[in-house]
Amino acid sequence: MSNISLSLDEIYELAKKTFSNNGCDDETSKIMADLVMKAERDGSISHGLFRVPAYISGLKSGKINGKGKPNVKTITPSVIKVDGNNCLAPVVLKKSIPELVKLAKENGIAVLAITNSHHMAAMWPETEAVAEHGLAAFACTSYKPAVAPAGAIKPLFGTNPISFAWPRKNKPPVVFDMATASMAMGEVQVAKREGHKVPLGTGLTKDGKETTDPAEIADGGVLLPFGGYKGSGIAMMVELLAGALVGDNFSYETAEKDNNDGGPPSGGEFILAISPEKLSNSDWDTHSLKFFEKMKSMGDVRLPGERRHKNRLDKGPRYINEDLVNKIKSLS
Ligand code: NDP
Repeated sequence: MSNISLSLDEIYELAKKTFSNNGCDDETSKIMADLVMKAERDGSISHGLFRVPAYISGLKSGKINGKGKPNVKTITPSVIKVDGNNCLAPVVLKKSIPELVKLAKENGIAVLAITNSHHMAAMWPETEAVAEHGLAAFACTSYKPAVAPAGAIKPLFGTNPISFAWPRKNKPPVVFDMATASMAMGEVQVAKREGHKVPLGTGLTKDGKETTDPAEIADGGVLLPFGGYKGSGIAMMVELLAGALVGDNFSYETAEKDNNDGGPPSGGEFILAISPEKLSNSDWDTHSLKFFEKMKSMGDVRLPGERRHKNRLDKGPRYINEDLVNKIKSLS
């Protein structure tokens, strides 16, 4: 397996051309190319070029609208409802986050309730974008069933990522962004291919037994949430916030409606923005910086998001799997 070197501009141009030649208008192509380039730049490689073939499958089958425009409606001083009109989530976010930021700054808190959009990306782009405006942000979305609730042996939850970002006045926000599954199924498949074991608690066999054998999880078994019943509670919360609360599907309903073309299914997303300026009545920035310093003084501690932000400083080329690049070129 060999890698080839691509500059960040080349990554952007390859992605833009591919989206553009597969039914996306110029605006959507540019938004998606920017997302893909930034994921590669930050080292979020599982959500950069790697996801392009799946996006293209969804565009080709017609379930994703590459030329659509989301409908953004402010329905109360702090609630924005967005009908994604089957656009890709980054397009929906580009249109709706400025309104979320405006309302959260005015009112102290605001919520973005997104429906009918297609999310398969990392979630830090949205929380980080909100926190860059001095706001704390939380976002989550569901997917299709892959994870068994604690006590079950069949999947019900998606891998249901959650992201939280905290603003810092003269530094990048502190951001965590994680799936609520113990491990991505892709990583389980890699462990199977390479003959490695996975930690107990990663998943179950098809008969519901605990196992460290990735093959038993990947071939008919199921993933578990991280942290047992605690992660299960968080994954359940994601289903409720990104499903019933915003007026969209639970993961199992998403699966019933999806055409299984491999592209991201239609679903909801929940984003919350809160203004520390309005809530704290104190020097929240200095206060939280002291807290982060204390954390980092305690040994081998790093803040979530630091790896990506360090990668971001490197403006040089990225080394991308050659087969993947050739596959994307064949789609463009
Ligand atoms: P990771 O387990 O790799 O990382 C989770 C978080 O922990 C990151 O914010 C990471 O920061 C931080 N972190 C990692 N190691 C440390 C450490 N030693 N100390 C402190 N913080 C640390 O992510 P996942 O595999 O769970 O998820 C990967 C991506 O997949 C996410 O972007 C998620 O949004 C996406 N995803 C998207 C889905 C969708 O449907 N759209 C579904 C499921 C996942 P850093 O980035 O700086 O390493």
